[in-house]
Amino acid sequence: MFITVENLKKSYQAGEGKNEVLKGVCLTLEKGEVGVILGPSGSGKSTLMNIIGGVDHADSGSIRVDGLEITALSDDKLTDYRRNSIGFIFQFYNLVPNLTVAENIEVVSNISKSALNMDTVLKAVGLETKKRSFPRELSGGEQQRVAIARAIVKNPKLLLCDEPTGALDYETSRGVLSLLQKINRDFGSAILMITHNTAIGDMANKVYKLRGGEIVETVRHDETLAAERIEW
Ligand code: ADP
Ligand code: MG
Repeated sequence: MFITVENLKKSYQAGEGKNEVLKGVCLTLEKGEVGVILGPSGSGKSTLMNIIGGVDHADSGSIRVDGLEITALSDDKLTDYRRNSIGFIFQFYNLVPNLTVAENIEVVSNISKSALNMDTVLKAVGLETKKRSFPRELSGGEQQRVAIARAIVKNPKLLLCDEPTGALDYETSRGVLSLLQKINRDFGSAILMITHNTAIGDMANKVYKLRGGEIVETVRHDETLAAERIEW
């Protein structure tokens, strides 16, 4: 198994008490699979992603990614893991406004030491002609493509996408999702995505429903046939 999350627990301090956000989450993903996490707002989806991506710590439980036990890593090793193995994509692109497309990609990714070069990633996301444009000169969909280019430069084993189409209209969303599908196919990165976008149905291998801090249901895509049959 490429990713195994077992009995993951996480609470935040809330006033005098505790807000138990994750109460023993389990999930698995095979190499190259696409997994989707569904759940209402505040159900802990982003917290779960952030812990898997090494930007937040669990209270207990285990996460193995390609044989590496994440929860046991020292801070330095966790930083290495995050930098080398994980690509993050968020709802609001997180581009630096006064840097060009190429600079946005370079600045975060240490491209000279990376697996893929600038031309390869720009071609992969269809932005060869926008290298010197600034974020404000791009549409939302194009800005998200820059963010995707930045995330794939190191050819990460795992792409974590937190509502990547949340700010985009339906047609643009479909384009971004099919781009992610192409990246999954061409580069072999596994994808774990939080989304409510029904256009994801075609590409998801597994759909996990998070409710009240637990995965209440797992749907394998081959059992569902169509996104419409998943109860969002
Ligand atoms: P979702 O992504 O499903 O909307 P989140 O993971 O962002 O949910 O948040 C789940 C719960 O954890 C919410 O109640 C939120 O207020 C709380 N929470 C998230 N991050 C923090 C934090 N850094 N400190 C305290 N509480 C947090
Ligand atoms: Mg969230």
